[in-house]
Amino acid sequence: MSDAQPGLLIVGAHGRMGRRLVALAPEYELSVAAEVDRHGATLDASLASVARAVIDFSAPAQLAATLAFCTTHRVPLVLGTTGLSEPELESIEHAARVIPLVFAANFSLGVHTLMTLVSEAARLLESWDVELVEAHHRKKVDAPSGTALALLNRIVAARHTSVAESAVFGREGQVGPRPSGQIGVHALRGGSVVGEHTVRLLGEGEEVVLEHRALDRDIFARGALRSACWLLGSERGPGRYGLADVLGRD
Ligand code: NAD
Repeated sequence: MSDAQPGLLIVGAHGRMGRRLVALAPEYELSVAAEVDRHGATLDASLASVARAVIDFSAPAQLAATLAFCTTHRVPLVLGTTGLSEPELESIEHAARVIPLVFAANFSLGVHTLMTLVSEAARLLESWDVELVEAHHRKKVDAPSGTALALLNRIVAARHTSVAESAVFGREGQVGPRPSGQIGVHALRGGSVVGEHTVRLLGEGEEVVLEHRALDRDIFARGALRSACWLLGSERGPGRYGLADVLGRD
């Protein structure tokens, strides 16, 4: 794994995503300088001299250490960890004042496109009911998924409302008739499902269904590696960038 050559530090390198990042990095002409994980290398000052960029797909508990390393040593960051709290999200904004970082709840091109389609559909079909359903493998620890929350944020923005005002996370018991404007969010867990997101827009006598299915984890790893290339490709100033910046589109 580690050599003395400058390269990527992969945080969470032994996980499902980390293993794919390590395997695919050479395709992007990126070398891996260190595999950081609980039983691997530690993200400490000894790695600063070889770190060209950090890619972190690990867990929220690791976030503070990753941000401290990257801001202290001025190392660009690609961050894919989901399930982050509001204070953790704020800490990312603080770090983005010091370093360039790409942060996305979902690094797939298809989901990026789904986001745009869902915004537009939620706006055009403003009075229709919306239900958002996601499915993931049994080992996923956060729910709803970061992607489902990002989709929800797109829907509430398109309808000039808020998550607190409109969203309901699951239903049970005597819930009564569905209030208009409500947005239902549901998380399914099981088996080895890589990731599915379905947005159903339900009108009177008709329905629009927008859906993305991830068939392979490599789509996320490739989006993250492409983001690292984008960060390294030119001198990016500090800032919080998204996949739209990397892809050069809205
Ligand atoms: P995983 O559990 O398979 O792997 C996580 C790895 O991180 C493990 O090897 C674990 O040992 C390591 N880790 C956890 N805490 C650590 C710490 N404090 N220090 C060092 N290593 C630590 O999980 P996964 O399926 O690879 O997903 C990882 C994260 O990426 C999750 O938050 C997941 O939701 C997210 N994810 C994001 C995208 C995206 O496109 N943004 C896609 C898939 C997964």
